[in-house]
Amino acid sequence: RPRVLSGIQPTAGSFHLGNYLGAVRQWVALQETHDAFYMVVDLHAITIPQDPAALRANTRLAAAQLLAAGLDPDRCTLFVQSHVPEHAQLGWVMNCLTGFGEASRMTQFKDKSAKQGSDRTTVGLFTYPVLQVADILLYQANQVPVGEDQRQHIELTRDLAERFNARLGETFTVPEPYILKETAKIYDLQDPTVKMSKSASTPKGLINLLDEPKATAKKVRSAVTDTDTVIRFDPVGKPGVSNLLSISSTLTGRPVAELEKEYEGKMYGALKTDLAEQMVEFVTPFRERTQAYLDDPETLDSILAKGAEKARAVAAETLAQAYDRIGFLPAK
Ligand code: ATP
Ligand code: MG
Repeated sequence: RPRVLSGIQPTAGSFHLGNYLGAVRQWVALQETHDAFYMVVDLHAITIPQDPAALRANTRLAAAQLLAAGLDPDRCTLFVQSHVPEHAQLGWVMNCLTGFGEASRMTQFKDKSAKQGSDRTTVGLFTYPVLQVADILLYQANQVPVGEDQRQHIELTRDLAERFNARLGETFTVPEPYILKETAKIYDLQDPTVKMSKSASTPKGLINLLDEPKATAKKVRSAVTDTDTVIRFDPVGKPGVSNLLSISSTLTGRPVAELEKEYEGKMYGALKTDLAEQMVEFVTPFRERTQAYLDDPETLDSILAKGAEKARAVAAETLAQAYDRIGFLPAK
């Protein structure tokens, strides 16, 4: 079985619709066909300041949401990044292989640091793509299911894997991105030219899966569209309407072309009302399932402990091989 690896940050509590449609939904599907490793990336979360109690709670909450979304610990390996120390260890190695200019070209860093100002931007945020390289290479992943915003980081992963292999001998699998065109980028409902994001969206433009279903329905109904009236998929000319069509198509499993036909001659309100209903239908059971996992933290923690053990077995083997190639003296 080919292997996949991906992660999600425990930063904001609730997952948003972009996380689910862009990434987590694919994770659930891939556990059937792939040897799948999924993690809650708490090391990445501390690239911005985190309150300790909130970080701990949000890490459990992220795991609960992944299980609620359909990850099955018997069919995939679900773990917390900090439980596997090899991530930080290989991360250092990868830092020493990355050019400063190369890291400086990462657009996610440029965007996020521009929003924060340079005094509040940490060196950790700067090197987070390099830690992500280590995350992926440790598991010899063949594919990485992520949203479009991560494409550049997968490219960096490929470059560094090839560089290490060329200099020190074949060690790492060179991974491919796994990005589905239809859901690669879900946009903010209030500003459909920017991606929906945990850290950047306006509250009204961000659909949190754990919000009150009523609030979610309201956000859908007040989504920004345009002054035209035609319901047509045209991401450049009609980004708002196209975003709503993509979301509806994925939630209902119906092709966009079929939806365009159905809404011919109808007003935007019809699309929004239907989508609001589809969203409520999706989030209501999702919230309940998440709560059920949270109500039983012992089971949750034991799932994560077992996952960490499985992950560590793979990660330790890769790290040992990399250390040996580098020329580190083995500890006796
Ligand atoms: P932040 O803005 O703090 O980076 P985020 O919203 O990007 O948060 P992450 O935990 O970094 O959330 O991302 C988890 C996964 O969700 C990644 O695979 C990412 O590509 C995907 N993702 C995030 N936002 C979107 C979006 N708007 N559309 C599609 N996929 C997305
Ligand atoms: Mg992100």
